[in-house]
Amino acid sequence: MDQAQLAERLKNIKQELCSVTLIAVTKYSALEDLEMAYAENQFDFGESKVNDLKYKANYFQEKNFNNVRWHFIGHLQTNKVKELLRIPNLSAIHSVDSLRLLKEIIKNKSEFTEVELKIFLQLNTSHEDEKTGFTSMLEFEEAVELLQNTNGPLKLAGLMTMGSIRTEDFELSAKKCFSELEKVREQLIKKYKILDLKLSMGMSQDYKIALTYGTDFVRIGSALFK
Ligand SMILES: *Cc1c(COP(=O)(O)O)cnc(C)c1O
Repeated sequence: MDQAQLAERLKNIKQELCSVTLIAVTKYSALEDLEMAYAENQFDFGESKVNDLKYKANYFQEKNFNNVRWHFIGHLQTNKVKELLRIPNLSAIHSVDSLRLLKEIIKNKSEFTEVELKIFLQLNTSHEDEKTGFTSMLEFEEAVELLQNTNGPLKLAGLMTMGSIRTEDFELSAKKCFSELEKVREQLIKKYKILDLKLSMGMSQDYKIALTYGTDFVRIGSALFK
């Protein structure tokens, strides 16, 4: 992939997205790929490992690329929370998948020195064991209440999910998972009088489906960088 190819892919995908935010997932990409995307005015990036994110975010900071927004999208271990919260230009954590993890983030929130950190609660809508995410609605609602009663910089920004990996019909599975997330959002908005709750769903394989279910963020890696 060269600059022109990446520019073309970004242009095509962004046209489809309209006002939906594209998170360019760089977990398989080298720094040169990120710089190429940045040169095309791509400022939202996603990483799934704390060490990789730290390395890439520090590199961007050294270059004075300070208008980037980093989105953490992978499974986060509680012993990595502090390290993650200190990373420059961290904008959101999309993968808060348990009450235990949320409590650890809240406990360490003073490590985060910027104004706002967006928190997305991840739901396991496909009910696959290897997927992380809340499965119990009781625990999930406790997490929502906890976040609502926590003052800055953490902000309940939305909900995240993934379609099935293990499936013969990924389209059907994606539709099921995405519509479930949309329903949960409506329930939360009603029950907790939350005004604005975003959806983070859709990857290279299924982002077009996510668009039809009203997603606000898509997380795309391979369709851009492979
Ligand atoms: C890797 C990853 C993506 C991007 O996947 P692609 O299929 O490469 O687009 C999106 N979300 C999460 C949580 C991921 O781990």
